[in-house]
Amino acid sequence: MTVSVGSVKVGSDQPVVVQSMTNTDTADPAATAAQVAALATAGSQIVRVTVNNDEAAAAVPEMIARAADLGADVPIVGDFHYNGHLLLAKYPECARALSKYRINPGNVGSKRRDENFRTIVQLAVDNDKPVRIGVNWGSLDQDLLTEMMDANAASASPSDAKEVYIEAMIESALRSALLAEETGLRHDQIILSAKVSQVQDLVEVYRRLAKRCIYPLHLGLTEAGLGSKGIIASTAGLSILLAEGIGDTIRVSLTPRPGGDRTEEVYVAQQVLQSLGLRSFAPQVTACPGCGRTTSTFFQRMAEDIQQYLREQMPVWRGRYPGVEELKVAVMGCVVNGPGESKHANIGISLPGTFEEPKAPVYVDGALHTTLKGEGIVPGFLEILETYVARRYGA
Ligand code: SF4
Repeated sequence: MTVSVGSVKVGSDQPVVVQSMTNTDTADPAATAAQVAALATAGSQIVRVTVNNDEAAAAVPEMIARAADLGADVPIVGDFHYNGHLLLAKYPECARALSKYRINPGNVGSKRRDENFRTIVQLAVDNDKPVRIGVNWGSLDQDLLTEMMDANAASASPSDAKEVYIEAMIESALRSALLAEETGLRHDQIILSAKVSQVQDLVEVYRRLAKRCIYPLHLGLTEAGLGSKGIIASTAGLSILLAEGIGDTIRVSLTPRPGGDRTEEVYVAQQVLQSLGLRSFAPQVTACPGCGRTTSTFFQRMAEDIQQYLREQMPVWRGRYPGVEELKVAVMGCVVNGPGESKHANIGISLPGTFEEPKAPVYVDGALHTTLKGEGIVPGFLEILETYVARRYGA
């Protein structure tokens, strides 16, 4: 089943969609639009923004218009907790401008939970918007959890608490989806997610959820964490599920360093998909790890410079050179594996190791193309790269 989120299709045999979320104050339309544009330029196909109060809801239409002016042609999703039923009703232009609403069924109230949930869904129906029902480990519907814990305690062979927790997450997602459909939302307007912060739990929850419904699933390890821990934990969890064919859209929830670049989560998500061979986003650089045979940092810097160069070119190359995302580049540290690995790439360079003659053979499509020397190695290689890309992928 496919769900349309603005112009982006999610589910069924569609390519897995990369999405991201801003961390600016949505009430600041200029700052949020700038970050939406940056995320879209990096390749995020859907961007979510928090809509947490009156100021944010009022600012959404202007923010979306500003993002469009900056060239960000992406569907923008509103993330609602606690007061979504009030904000969407009070700010109809916000409700119209967003491409999808995310509802957390654990955060729509307690006494009037179903009523508030139905109100949001009715607004989605009225505005013809899809909804993501996003259950989260950290804000699971406590009434449902208590009900299931009590039933478990009374059973003849009770399960452990974590098992009940996992089942409660799945139950919360499925019951909410049923309630949404009873309220009038179409089956093909619903996406589900059930995010947890531990890899093994994530895999377990989604494997079960995938068996019990045909709604498209949004994957993500919630609160993945900082730096390499967040990247590796997200990659581990997402990779297992994606390799099993589970997941239609993904987000990598990294905690950025103060002032850090929010687009990193987009690049990580893309790299997960590209490493698994599911999609291609950008040329890949194969670089050896280096060892005692190459003690200078020259080749490390060159590999990094080329990676950065390719990333910077992609916003332009993507439109100008269809297929360039399949390009493979090798930057190798010495003669041991350098020529061999370079021949496997479209373009490869084998830099001189510590005791080798200071020259760098360049291979193009498996054949020796030229040999570069001295100061001319990096600019010479980039020139060969540019010429190759234009010739091979140009119209
Ligand atoms: S290619 Fe050369 S420098 Fe790179 S890891 Fe292998 S032996 Fe070391």
